[in-house]
Amino acid sequence: MTDSSGTVMSVTSLARLAETSTEALPGIGPKRAATLADLGIRNVADMLHHVPRRYIDRSSKPPIADINVGDEVTLIGEVVNVTSRRAAVRRSPKRSLLIVEAVVRDETASMKAIWFNQGFRAGQLAEGSWVALSGEVEVYKGSLRMKMPEVDELGASLEGLRTGRLVPIHSRAAKLSLGDVRRAIHVALRRSDPVDDTVPVEFRAVRGLMDRHAAFHSIHFPESFDEVRRARRRLVYDEFFRLQTALAVQKKRLAHEMRGVAHRPSGELVGSFVGGLPYALTGAQRRVIDEIAADLRSPRPMHRLLQGEVGSGKTVVAMSALLHGVEGDWQGAIMAPTEVLAGQHYLGARSLLAQARLSPDLAGEGTRLGMESLFASGGPAVRLALLTGSTAAANYAPGISRSELLADAAAGRVDILVGTHALIQEGVGFDRLGVVVVDEQHRFGVAQRVQLKEKADLAAPDLLIMTATPIPRTLSMTLYGDLDVSVIDEMPPGRAPVATERVSRRDEGLAWRLVEREAAEGRQAFVVCPLVEDSPQVEAASASAERERLSALMPGLRVGLIHGQLKAAEKEGVMAAFRAGEIDVLVSTTVVEVGVDVPNATVMVVEDADRFGLSQLHQLRGRVGRGEHAGSCVLIADPAGAEAERRLAAMTKIADGFKLAEEDLRIRGQGTVFGARQSGFGDLRLADVLADSKTLAEARQDAFALVESDPTLSGRPELVAEIRAMLGEEMGWLLKS
Ligand code: ADP
Ligand code: MG
Repeated sequence: MTDSSGTVMSVTSLARLAETSTEALPGIGPKRAATLADLGIRNVADMLHHVPRRYIDRSSKPPIADINVGDEVTLIGEVVNVTSRRAAVRRSPKRSLLIVEAVVRDETASMKAIWFNQGFRAGQLAEGSWVALSGEVEVYKGSLRMKMPEVDELGASLEGLRTGRLVPIHSRAAKLSLGDVRRAIHVALRRSDPVDDTVPVEFRAVRGLMDRHAAFHSIHFPESFDEVRRARRRLVYDEFFRLQTALAVQKKRLAHEMRGVAHRPSGELVGSFVGGLPYALTGAQRRVIDEIAADLRSPRPMHRLLQGEVGSGKTVVAMSALLHGVEGDWQGAIMAPTEVLAGQHYLGARSLLAQARLSPDLAGEGTRLGMESLFASGGPAVRLALLTGSTAAANYAPGISRSELLADAAAGRVDILVGTHALIQEGVGFDRLGVVVVDEQHRFGVAQRVQLKEKADLAAPDLLIMTATPIPRTLSMTLYGDLDVSVIDEMPPGRAPVATERVSRRDEGLAWRLVEREAAEGRQAFVVCPLVEDSPQVEAASASAERERLSALMPGLRVGLIHGQLKAAEKEGVMAAFRAGEIDVLVSTTVVEVGVDVPNATVMVVEDADRFGLSQLHQLRGRVGRGEHAGSCVLIADPAGAEAERRLAAMTKIADGFKLAEEDLRIRGQGTVFGARQSGFGDLRLADVLADSKTLAEARQDAFALVESDPTLSGRPELVAEIRAMLGEEMGWLLKS
């Protein structure tokens, strides 16, 4: 193949195009390349993916001769005359008005258009070029004209488009006309002709996908909307297919290259544990416990995501997993994102074990872990310990130091060790670590998980990642596509949804009266103070001022305070007092966001709620109504923008966490979700995990089938090269050879 200058072309694979600078295209020098980079177009593959943001349907546009006064229209025509002048403003002689006028025409007639104080229009409307004008038509001095219409430049001519029904409108940069962008894409398409097709032909046939090169052509220069739809579907499929293939390879590798622990759970501990609960498990809990048990028995390491709304009962499930491990004499670990939460997990686990008489009472025992006496008495016991940066000794057992605890863990004398994510980083040693539960709360991306696995001593244990933030299914297929997923989709019986109301600051008194009423009934409340971005100090200070204010507003109540600047022991002290009912109202920064379980708390007040994200608000609301009494949530907010308005409306209307998560994704767009993570998701440019969920499911199924038959993709070097090039550096590990 040769290009117009006669040089031999070799660039045909998308992988190569992703490594070919736009400057390699004729007509694009360093300046233009820099302008293109402003549009996010760095290489030729980017250029092909710079798809039109919309299309103007020429066939539905009226000829100019048919346009009437009062019509709201888009017309397409050639610019025949542009003038600009200054005119005096009648009542204020010092000021003048800049007027740009243009005449455009098509085969039937011409039309005048006028703009005031938009001097740039003169430069935008080149005589002889084609434009689409959208706006209202008025009569002025007996003839029709468009007043201040929107302008889409269609280029110097409609080259190649004139006959087409659809005119593509690409995004463009200030120094680049639409015609420039279109021409550059034209050239890119010609230069890359044909782009190779890395999707196996059988998948293309089964899914009815059009040829890839044709898809690139069609999406930029289509004849019909149906063609656009088919082209888009093909390119969306490719994006999903690349990512899912990478995830499938990763999953396969974790499953096969790593020797896991084949647990032999006897069921003895879990039996007494479940038997000791004051309630029956929900069907969903039982199902998920079984799914996990099957993973534990298998010699392959488990990588499972446990999703369940706040209050759905994940703790019991996690404990069952850990106890199954302990039954076979393996050790377990629970890691939480913060020390407060680690402390809470520890207390929760301890009381659950105590209910089932599986816990030695450590307090005041004096003997190390109280173990000897317990074993001597013949009862089964689970040796549980908490390791945090500062409070290890206090929560472990009297007289036992942090270093002794570390020694116990390393010697296998601790069955379940609770701590923060630092358990891994600090390299705490275990003798026989068999099950790890990570309470992840979205802080653990794919890359972090791999880091975790790459710690040699943690390669083998079964891993359960818990998240209380519901994620739409298709999103979790993408973010956590290399994990198995279990969902607790059923709440324990008798949970009423938390009644949610919003009030403006002016009416905040309503919230405080509600808090007082509940307190009079012996119930408790949380008040969450505004987020202060990047300044925990300021946040703490304003929370403490708020505590003073609320003490004055509710003089009869005991108002406590917790924030991130307190020392761990102080936080623990406040939480203990709140749990014990010694505090009526707990003013806090968002440290209560996750995991805090105080069943007697029935009111959650969120101040300046418009500053919080939807999932955060839902998490906060999930903190109340966890006991026998119904909960309520008051959002105090005077939202400034439409987006905040939508979030608050969603909160009052939607109780279901998964539905709320979908709405959140709709409001924010997936870009923000992926952006906060890692670059590999940047390959999803056309694809939308909600709107294209069907294509995602198909691509995932195909990718996993392919990897099943060829686990290392040894037969598909082009596909591997493409995935590496398109997914970028940070996802490179996915296909490490
Ligand atoms: P999560 O961690 O998913 O937010 P928890 O495990 O803390 O939820 O459980 C929330 C509350 O529900 C706890 O007070 C727990 O005792 C209770 N609970 C859990 N499972 C059940 C069940 N099957 N029936 C009744 N209550 C349950
Ligand atoms: Mg296993």
